[in-house]
Amino acid sequence: MAPPNPHLVARMQGHRLSIFAEMSTLAVQTGAINLGQGFPDTDGPTEVLDAAVAAIRAGHNQYPPDRGIPELRQAVSDHQARFYGQEVDPGDVMVSTGASEAIGAAILALVSEGDEVVVFEPYFDLYAAVIALAGGVRRAVTLRAPDYSFDEADLAAAICPGTRLILLNSPHNPTGKVFSPEELGVIARLAVEHDLLVVTDEVYEHMTYDGTRHVPLATLPGMAERTVTISSGGKSYGLTGWKVGWAHGPTDLIDAVHTVKQHLSFTSGAPFQRAMVTALNLGDDYFDGLAADLCAKRDLVSAGLTAAGLDVYGASGTYYLTADVRSVGYDDGMDFCRELPGRCGVVAVPNRVFYDHAEEGRSIVRFAYCKRFEVLHEAMDRLAGLTA
Ligand SMILES: *Cc1c(COP(=O)(O)O)cnc(C)c1O
Repeated sequence: MAPPNPHLVARMQGHRLSIFAEMSTLAVQTGAINLGQGFPDTDGPTEVLDAAVAAIRAGHNQYPPDRGIPELRQAVSDHQARFYGQEVDPGDVMVSTGASEAIGAAILALVSEGDEVVVFEPYFDLYAAVIALAGGVRRAVTLRAPDYSFDEADLAAAICPGTRLILLNSPHNPTGKVFSPEELGVIARLAVEHDLLVVTDEVYEHMTYDGTRHVPLATLPGMAERTVTISSGGKSYGLTGWKVGWAHGPTDLIDAVHTVKQHLSFTSGAPFQRAMVTALNLGDDYFDGLAADLCAKRDLVSAGLTAAGLDVYGASGTYYLTADVRSVGYDDGMDFCRELPGRCGVVAVPNRVFYDHAEEGRSIVRFAYCKRFEVLHEAMDRLAGLTA
C-alpha cells in the first residue's frame, strides 16, 4: 500500500495505487511485452474511425446534449433489441464518459453512506474506489477457481438488511468467466426476494466463446425494473481511448444516475458519440470476426502458458486468462509479476489485489491477450524460458 497522502480524504487513502500503473511502468522500464493492462494494440474498424473524422469536419465539436445525442441513444436501443430482444426506450438511455463514469455515477447516485454493496471477487478495481467514495460498504462473494463459480449460500449470506445493491460484471474481468443463465437466475431470484437494485457492467458483451452467449441480467423476469445496465464502445470496437459509454434502465433509476453524471462530466466526446452510432450498427460479420479472432488468441495464449508450466484456468469470455503460479514455484502472484519482466520480458498482473479475501487470489495472475498475433507469439516464446 502507498504511504498516506496528507491532503487526500480518508476514504480514498486505500485506493492510491493502481496495479495497472505499477505494472505498465515496469513494462516500460524493462522493455517487456505488456500483457498486464487490457487495451488492444490495433485500432478499431476503419469505417468507425472515418465516421469520427467526418464528424469533426462536419462541425460536431461543441457540447452534445447532457444525456447524449439522440442518434446514439437510439442506436443503443436498437443494439439491445437486435442482440438480446430487449426493449429499451431511447429516452431511458444515458450516454457517459466511458462505462467508468456511468458506474461511478450509478454508485454515487444509488448508494448512501453505510449502505452495503455486494460484488463478486476478484473485482474490477474501479468498483472498490467508487463504493468507498460513496461511503458504501463492500461485501465480496468469492468466485472460486477453476471455473470461478460462486456458492449460492455465499451470495445469500452476503445479503443483509443493509444491502442496497448488487454490482455484477459479466463477461467478467479479470477471470474471463461468462456467468451462466443458471447463475444469473440465482442472482435475479435473490435480488427480487430482497428487493435489491442491480448495476451491471457488460463492457465485454461481444466477447464470448465456446458457444456461450452473453445474457443481460435485465432481461430476466423481475429484473428490468430494478437494473441499471452499463456498457461502452471501448472494448467492443477496440477504441478504449474514446471513452464513450452508456447506461439504461427504468426511467426513475436512470434519472437518478443522470443527476450525478451531469455534475461530473456533464457531457463529452461529441464527434465520438456520432462515430459510435456507426459502430453499434456494424454488421454481424464484424461481431463474429471479433469473437473468432479473440477466441483464437485465447487458445494460443492458453497453450503457451500451459507449455510454460502455468496452471491455466478456463475462460469463455473477455480478453483475459488467469493462471495459478504455484506450479512454477511461486506462492504469491505479486512476487511472480514483479520478477517476470526481468526473467522473461513479459508483464502480467497479480489478481490478489482484486480480492477482499486476498488469500483466495494469492497465487493467481492475469494475462491480457488483446494483442496482435505476432506479439502474442513472441510473448509465449519468451515465457517458454520460465521452465528452461
Ligand atoms: C475496461 C473496463 C471498464 C471501463 O470501461 P470504459 O468504457 O473504458 O470506461 C469497466 N468495467 C470493466 C470490467 C472493464 O474491464
